[in-house]
Amino acid sequence: MNILVLGGGGREHALAWAIRQNPKCDRLIVAPGNAGTARFARNAALDILDPAAVVEFAASAAVDFVVIGPEAPLAAGVADALAAAGIAHFGPSAAAARLEASKAFTKEICDACGAPTANYDRFTDAEAAKEYIRFHGAPIVVKADGLAAGKGVVVAMTETEALQAVDEMFGGAFGTAGAEIVIEEFMQGEEASFFILCDGEAVLPIGSAQDHKRVGEGDTGPNTGGMGAYTPAPVLTDAIAQQALDEIVKPTVAEMARRGTPFKGVLYAGLMIEHGRARLVEYNVRFGDPECQALMMRLGAQVLDLLLACADGRLADMSVNWADDHALTVVMAAAGYPGTYAKGTEIRGLDTLPADSSRMVFHAGTVENEGRILANGGRVLNITARGASLAEAKAAAYAMVDQIDWPEGFCRRDIGWRAL
Ligand code: ATP
Repeated sequence: MNILVLGGGGREHALAWAIRQNPKCDRLIVAPGNAGTARFARNAALDILDPAAVVEFAASAAVDFVVIGPEAPLAAGVADALAAAGIAHFGPSAAAARLEASKAFTKEICDACGAPTANYDRFTDAEAAKEYIRFHGAPIVVKADGLAAGKGVVVAMTETEALQAVDEMFGGAFGTAGAEIVIEEFMQGEEASFFILCDGEAVLPIGSAQDHKRVGEGDTGPNTGGMGAYTPAPVLTDAIAQQALDEIVKPTVAEMARRGTPFKGVLYAGLMIEHGRARLVEYNVRFGDPECQALMMRLGAQVLDLLLACADGRLADMSVNWADDHALTVVMAAAGYPGTYAKGTEIRGLDTLPADSSRMVFHAGTVENEGRILANGGRVLNITARGASLAEAKAAAYAMVDQIDWPEGFCRRDIGWRAL
């Protein structure tokens, strides 16, 4: 079959890499893709936020199956347009993608289905919001309702900080995403990400992960899109995973179906784990980046069968073929990231690195120019390895990092520290 992957980051390189290994995949197109996907797929220029353009492209290229990587095309209704055109695809409708696009909506769903999450209230008025903060005190968490690229959340340790966040959000710091805000209880505990495929009814867990959001070692410094991740996350034990599935995920999927907006795609549940129980922090409606890179390394070619089953409503018949191993990914970023950084610096040494089922360099912000690989973004490479233990996966990933000749790049040396 002909497959189109939408997106151009490390997540999409990893998805495309896993899909390519499945014998069902005849032709693979990635739009827009990057220098890494260009090695084994056709990269296509396409405005992936334009649903009509995606449908037209998929039809003209005789695409049988579209895999939507990032959240923005989902929120823009790309899955809805593909559904209307009768083109099979992986990724939820815009109505179901509200589980990520609106934090207030997710809270409403949790209320309706009884899923454990932080106590909260929602506000469209600054004075009422401030009154709530003064009443409850700090620490407290203030969130812009809509999509704000991970920046619309303020975990306020003082009341002053929380009050300031209210002013900023209602002052338009996040545009329409901040027109409504959610203020919620600060939850203690350790965070983990849980990935669950859903076909609208059935659910199938495909792994857990922990990521490292801060730019500095020991989880210090400013927030980033993610500096590394590993799977599985030991904090999400089998028992807690089952509790999260029974009390959070399955009720959510049932409630979405009951509302006539079934969730089909991957549900990425951000969980807070304390005293052996998980509560929901947030949902995302797509794979995490860089968590996806580590997950794909463990799952490999079967991913295509699982995504197809998700789209066809056959998930109840599927199971995951697990190897008892671990995977870890280290992000290499351009010096200066997440602040200002240079583009166009050359990366050498990639061709001599292994590229097999247990070691891969997934590209994110790269371009190829006359055979040279150039950095073209903040987060640039995802060095990913598998091992019998997490320590082994980590050693293999950093051994590759050490062979990359890119003086203008950097990475954290402590990915996995929490689990190790
Ligand atoms: P991202 O895209 O980075 O995942 P987001 O904008 O979707 O972020 P959330 O995941 O809801 O926002 O919050 C970001 C981070 O803030 C969480 O990963 C968590 O560390 C922290 N956080 C959010 N809500 C709470 C809470 N109620 N208690 C404690 N920490 C929280």
